[in-house]
Amino acid sequence: MSAEQEHGQFVWHNGSFIPWADARIHVMSHVVNYGSSVFEGIRCYRTSKGSAIFRLDAHIERLVNSAHIYRMQLPYSYDDLCAACCDLVLADGFDECYLRPLVLRGYGTFGVDPFPAPIEVYICAWKWGKYLGAGACEQGVDVCVSSWTRIAPNTLPSMAKAGANYMNSQLIKMEAKINGYAEGIALDPEGYISEGSGENVFLIKDDTVMTPPLYSTILPGITRDSVIKICQRLGIQVLERAIPREMLYIADEVFFTGTAAEITPIRSVDKVTVGGGRRGPTTELIQKEFFGVLSGENEDLFGWLTPVESKSSLQAESQPA
Ligand code: PMP
Repeated sequence: MSAEQEHGQFVWHNGSFIPWADARIHVMSHVVNYGSSVFEGIRCYRTSKGSAIFRLDAHIERLVNSAHIYRMQLPYSYDDLCAACCDLVLADGFDECYLRPLVLRGYGTFGVDPFPAPIEVYICAWKWGKYLGAGACEQGVDVCVSSWTRIAPNTLPSMAKAGANYMNSQLIKMEAKINGYAEGIALDPEGYISEGSGENVFLIKDDTVMTPPLYSTILPGITRDSVIKICQRLGIQVLERAIPREMLYIADEVFFTGTAAEITPIRSVDKVTVGGGRRGPTTELIQKEFFGVLSGENEDLFGWLTPVESKSSLQAESQPA
């Protein structure tokens, strides 16, 4: 594991802290055999006013929805899970980190029918730098259109952030990397732009900002939603509509959004230069607003930051030693 991925000391498991090394499951757990998990990826930032989790409410809501879609009965409430995320950041002593809440079907049945398997809830945290490489947010990345199609409606539900969806993501990512690209963009089953293996996509053409709609089988990204809100506040209209593949080649600017990737400009697609081949002015403007909120430099007008102390259930003296 690289220094960039230094993990926490503890894992939150079903309401208790356990040492990182003890967060193990049996090989015959349902999730190992059948991919039955839902999860989140959340970032906690060091702001000028202390550590704060970005859009914790929206992430936990999406986790609860993902579990609901898969008929997983969560033994913890929305408030419990928000508190648990804050507790873990404090217990691990991180000022900045990435958080991974994970709900899985555990050990208890060998067949496909998931109902007899117990629901286990874990939260892990680690330090995670720039997902698409150092400097990616300024220089941009080179990407390809994947030969793999994004999951089709009525197969695996794309609104659920489920572990199994990431088999499709892995095909997209592996193909891109083997061919020398930082990331791949998949098309939806109709041939319109869908999303990256772990990012949503935005395009700018003639001052119009556009992004694929939910029916292009995308994950409803929380960074995507944040960018739409930032644009609205800046008076920039965002169109959510089916976008043909070739728009990627003739757009003035293209960028990815995601918790891990944050806002990463795309400088070429399939070796076709996008716009000026570098971060464009609108991307830079949106990044400035976004990173300004995360650093605490800009006012948190949308209430996106949850200071970790504000929702933690831990009293200073009861934190794990
Ligand atoms: N699409 C996929 C497939 C993803 O895995 C992610 C990362 N969670 C995103 C989009 C971006 O979502 P968010 O901004 O909520 O991280």
